[in-house]
Amino acid sequence: MAAENGAPRSASGAALVTGGSRGIGAAVARALAAEGWPVGVSYRSGADAAAGVVDAIEADGGRAMAVSGDVAELGAADRLLGAVEEAFGPVLVLVNNAGVREDGLAVQIDDGAWDRVLDTNLSGAFRLTRRALRPMIKARFGRIVNVASVVGTRASPGQANYAASKAGVIGMTGTVAAEVARRGVTVNAVAPGLVDTDMTRDLSTDILDSVPARRAGTPEEVAACVRFLASEEAAYVTGATLAVDGGLSA
Ligand code: NAP
Repeated sequence: MAAENGAPRSASGAALVTGGSRGIGAAVARALAAEGWPVGVSYRSGADAAAGVVDAIEADGGRAMAVSGDVAELGAADRLLGAVEEAFGPVLVLVNNAGVREDGLAVQIDDGAWDRVLDTNLSGAFRLTRRALRPMIKARFGRIVNVASVVGTRASPGQANYAASKAGVIGMTGTVAAEVARRGVTVNAVAPGLVDTDMTRDLSTDILDSVPARRAGTPEEVAACVRFLASEEAAYVTGATLAVDGGLSA
């Protein structure tokens, strides 16, 4: 179903991908741009990487802009969404992808490591969601996709802060989805398993022995799922968490 005037939704709005400068976020930004969305590519410190993603999208005939900001900071949601709105119009697709891990056994995780992970992965995603909802409700169309993790529902020793943040994202996803389901706004999550990005470069490949598919996923495989959840066709999918994990959680 297209917008009332028959044009695709992407003609009247934009997408924002937090942490779109690298890894899964970069693949998501490119996938959404290929669907016709002008895309805000957010980054915290990697200005060159974000510019590279924007260049790649533009070379393919799409529209994109880089937007800088630390999602853990109060006020970041307003700045990031405001910048994209000013350039491209209302943000109708929000992908909360920015994330960090700071691993350690629970006895070793200090308050700083707890707060940085929760502030980035969970509170940042909540504030962006809260700020994005009103324009989506006004447009009677919106798609929020949160990048959770298989670790949100499955024990992962050494990741209490990360697991708590991702479990929180999954809980938030279902509840916000129920709040806005009548408004044409869907809220879903993807829960990747092990995906080959900078974030997982330090992990031993022994982990792959427990993955039924016996390989890591690619950012593009996660992006394909996000692209579907962000599509008009996914209108009746909301509150769901889609595992993208090679069978790890099966
Ligand atoms: P990545 O390669 O490390 O990229 C992380 C991205 O997030 C970068 O663009 C980074 O920007 C941005 N970012 C980090 N902290 C930020 C902050 N405070 N404010 C704004 N941007 C910030 O990670 P990835 O593997 O693609 O992970 C993307 C998401 O998938 C994360 O939420 C992660 O938890 C989740 N995930 C990943 C895996 C996996 O196996 N890779 C599995 C499950 C879930 P800068 O470079 O500018 O810092």
